[in-house]
Amino acid sequence: MFSGQMVGRRTDTFQAVRIAWSGGQITGIESVGSSEVVEEFPWISPGLIDLQINGCQGLAFNDPGLTGAQVETVSRALAAWGVTCYCPTLTTDSFAVLSHALRTLASAIRESRAVAARVGGVHVEGPYICAEDGPRGAHPRQHVRPPDWDEFCRLQDAAEGHIRILTLSPEYSGADVFISRVADSGVVVAIGHTQADSDQLRAAVDAGARMSTHLGNGAHATLRRHPNYLWDQLAEDGLTASLIVDGHHLPPAVVKTFLRAKTPDRCILVSDVTAMAGLAPGRYETAGLGAVDVLEDGRLVIAGQQQLLAGASLPIGAGIANLVRFTEQGLGTAVAMATSRPAAILGQAAGRLEVGAPADLVQFRLPEPGARGPAGDLQIQATVQGGERVWSASAS
Ligand SMILES: [Zn+2]
Repeated sequence: MFSGQMVGRRTDTFQAVRIAWSGGQITGIESVGSSEVVEEFPWISPGLIDLQINGCQGLAFNDPGLTGAQVETVSRALAAWGVTCYCPTLTTDSFAVLSHALRTLASAIRESRAVAARVGGVHVEGPYICAEDGPRGAHPRQHVRPPDWDEFCRLQDAAEGHIRILTLSPEYSGADVFISRVADSGVVVAIGHTQADSDQLRAAVDAGARMSTHLGNGAHATLRRHPNYLWDQLAEDGLTASLIVDGHHLPPAVVKTFLRAKTPDRCILVSDVTAMAGLAPGRYETAGLGAVDVLEDGRLVIAGQQQLLAGASLPIGAGIANLVRFTEQGLGTAVAMATSRPAAILGQAAGRLEVGAPADLVQFRLPEPGARGPAGDLQIQATVQGGERVWSASAS
């Protein structure tokens, strides 16, 4: 079995520690170092958990020809970002494409230990979302449809039960009944890409909805001042909000205000990265979203305009760095929003540094203060997954 150790400053207590592991579990945590050298140590935290990853390295889970090998490639690639657990995310598409992707993901989880160890469940975002321009975001209108319990059951069958999060809009009649059936089946129901009114949102929460997906995005460009679905979801304590804090999707003042309104306990970070993550500026044809432009500043937009974002390209670690820059929240809180809190959404006790916890760890440095540009990503030095050192900066 893999064993090893790593030295760094804990992001939760700022204490310098040596963490040892064996057999996939943390076996010891001891204080090290004198105060003079501690400042030089890298940070050390639980492996990052990202509930919304559409693909990367040119590979999209919505690709009609998705293969198990591609699922494994994406799953392993995330180590460079410090991500040790994630939700492969499918966006609105035909039943044929969604069921193919879900069958492929399920068989990859069955056949590959590397995939099984990294996938925390599948996130299906759509197709039961708002059809209107704005809230629909980049999802293709022709595949948007009202909730259909029979279809959802067939999708969950194709996934061999691995669908863990379903993002939908509760604006359809009968949505509350649908939500309670999905929630009762053990799937986390998230509200997103919606124009639901106050009553519909309240009914959705009463029926078991627990999350708001990328709150503040997938919304109208212009909204009535109040009431509207942003205020309603901000005020709803039953909803944990996922936020894309890449410096493009939400202005810093909005991030700061959302954090204060929801409180950090009800916020998590997601990346929402797409297949174009890391590609050079230009126009790309994608499986799920049609033509997408990668702009010079790194933004991904629907081709031919500059407003409608088509997903993100920065990893979740950039969200941690930005959150510390944009808000009064400390590093420990920002890291919790990318570790223990998303783990709790998945019903896992992971995302904690303690003896007996899984040896999923990431060692990193924050970007230099005053780093130029809209966002500065973490400098990942090493990633440990299940006790195995799966990435290290010195070896790359
Ligand atoms: Zn979305």
